Amino acid sequence: MSTILSLESNITEIKGIGPKKAEAFGRLGIFCIGDFLRNYPREYEDMRNVKLIAGLKDGEKAVVEGTVVFNALGRGYGRKRTLHLSVLDKSAKMEVLFFMAGFMAKQFKNGSKYRFFGKVKVENGSVTMFHPSYEPADSDLETGILPVYSSTRGLSQKDLRRVSKQALLLAADYPEQLPLDVIEKAKLAPIAFALENIHYPTDTDAYKAARYRLVFEELFDLRFALKLSASRFGFGRQGVSFKKGDFSPFIKSLGYNLTSAQERALREIESDMNSELAMNRLLQGDVGSGKTIIAEAALYKAVKAGYQGVFMAPTEILASQHFESFTKDFEAFDINIGYLSGSLGAKDKREVLEKLKSGEIDILIGTHALISGNVEFRKLGLAITDEQHRFGVNQRKKLGDKGDNPDVLVMTATPIPRTLAVVLYSDLDISIIDELPPGRQAIITNRFNEQNRDSAYDKLLSEIEKGRQAYIVAPFIEDSESLQGYSAESLYEEFTRTYPGIKAGLLHGEMKQAEKDECMRAFSAGEISVLISTVVIEVGINVPNATVMLIENAERFGLAQLHQLRGRVGRGCEQSYCFLVLGDESEIALSRAEIMCQSRDGFYIAEKDLELRGPGELFGYRQHGLPQLQLADPVKHSSVLKLASDMADLLYENDPEQSNPDNKVFYDRIYKDYVNSDKLVL
Ligand code: ADP
Ligand code: MG
Repeated sequence: MSTILSLESNITEIKGIGPKKAEAFGRLGIFCIGDFLRNYPREYEDMRNVKLIAGLKDGEKAVVEGTVVFNALGRGYGRKRTLHLSVLDKSAKMEVLFFMAGFMAKQFKNGSKYRFFGKVKVENGSVTMFHPSYEPADSDLETGILPVYSSTRGLSQKDLRRVSKQALLLAADYPEQLPLDVIEKAKLAPIAFALENIHYPTDTDAYKAARYRLVFEELFDLRFALKLSASRFGFGRQGVSFKKGDFSPFIKSLGYNLTSAQERALREIESDMNSELAMNRLLQGDVGSGKTIIAEAALYKAVKAGYQGVFMAPTEILASQHFESFTKDFEAFDINIGYLSGSLGAKDKREVLEKLKSGEIDILIGTHALISGNVEFRKLGLAITDEQHRFGVNQRKKLGDKGDNPDVLVMTATPIPRTLAVVLYSDLDISIIDELPPGRQAIITNRFNEQNRDSAYDKLLSEIEKGRQAYIVAPFIEDSESLQGYSAESLYEEFTRTYPGIKAGLLHGEMKQAEKDECMRAFSAGEISVLISTVVIEVGINVPNATVMLIENAERFGLAQLHQLRGRVGRGCEQSYCFLVLGDESEIALSRAEIMCQSRDGFYIAEKDLELRGPGELFGYRQHGLPQLQLADPVKHSSVLKLASDMADLLYENDPEQSNPDNKVFYDRIYKDYVNSDKLVL
């Protein structure tokens, strides 16, 4: 029996893809065959060019075919063991090394031929290939330029290519996604051609044309979605004017002077708040630069002018920390602070909601719970979002919808370089706090590698002995076959086994919220000395007693992310340390670590990050699993960005109601992917 496959068919309809594999595909966001069309390759293997071992050059990525003549697991235990192969072709011999490869032992047979694709190291005449992708070279080997896809546990490149090929047979059915006159004017390849050639390029020119089309499309989409959501936010519309309130009593109560950068930001906010137009301002400033005080001052002004304010934070811990400090900072004033989160009991919740509606609560602080339907204000005038990149555009809009065009202030500690901000945030005004309060200690940052990793841990231990606390951050939650590097789980296991006397905690994104909160609480309370985690602590707690941030496989993190992680320490008066342990000492990894060791300026680091790695990391798209920009890089492709933005703006102006039926596919997609989803995070 054979069924006719379509783009909507479930991938289990493809021969060889059962429920187990379908589940793994689900983790990649692929459910029906058509989904795979948009799952672009991570890189390519150029099979037109199988190389001889003798001719390999240091540092190149190459395809090699050879016979395995030696096959052994290295010392160590379990899956962490190294697998060592010797591979022979007609020209020479090379070594192949797989790390953390205990599970791979049985995959290679001596005397059999395999094809390897990976990075080559040539040193003193010996050739080594590290962690290559591979397949048996006996069966039906493919030729041409082959896609290499990002994988997940339980899926081989063969599986991925199988689905890819099936999807491409149907690519001609995939409707054109962009308005036709845009395609024409920008001279873009049609969508079917672009998809076919991004997966299986027929040659370099076809690949370039495909790539250009898809890059253009991503940037065009993004710009159009931003235009749309800006208009839905009511930017430039009539709002609240808070002429009455004045900041100065609050500022005077602080016991320190504002930095000049804080002063400037406050003046900008003041003029927005005095104006009749609704404020839409982004406040950017490094971790610890003192954004919270500015937010408090704005809320103070709103309350004194007779309005309510709301402050939303991305996590329960952060929200409750803000609640505590707000309560303290507003103690001397007649201002009532309320707190709302999902974990509040029903009775407490009801009480808060009533007081909010009656106007008894002046400022409400909380988590996502703030945007749920039953939260009603008497007179909301100012809505503030902390760590705005953690929220979708729609969540922020819902918060603003709790009032009648209230002023909106969003804050972020992720510095966005000007070059990008002008395009991406063109509808927001921006204030920048580019100065830290005086007297901050510099955090001592050092780099380590696999060989001297122990000495980083020795330093960490000596801080623990002094009664301090430490963070250890790993790139992955658990060990897996396709990922190379430390995982939080295995580090936790190793640490607790090696140092049974030290209380350690494990924290990662797959834990339940309540478990995470409890772990954070225990660390915050000093019940745990060492917190071993993934990047979930990036936006997190303020634990002044924590003086060490040790980051494993630091090369795997974006610089902006490393900078944020480092900002978790140095919050008390003790000297603090950031230890970057590199698992890979490539030139780029070293230069990135060097930037971290030398600079503590978030904006400088962000610019460098952008240069070295592209914006995906900067915004943490990958971390959030957002499909917004797979191929496009607004900096590298700045001229495409300019063209795509101009054309998107023109389309928006020519058809402001999105009513042209010719563009229905495009509009429907933008609404589905961006406007009605929480994916738009800018
Ligand atoms: P951010 O929210 O930008 O990460 P915070 O507002 O939490 O930073 O400020 C960090 C710390 O610095 C707080 O303890 C705050 O009281 C303090 N602080 C803020 N502004 C100043 C200033 N001008 N002088 C001295 N300390 C300040
Ligand atoms: Mg803050």
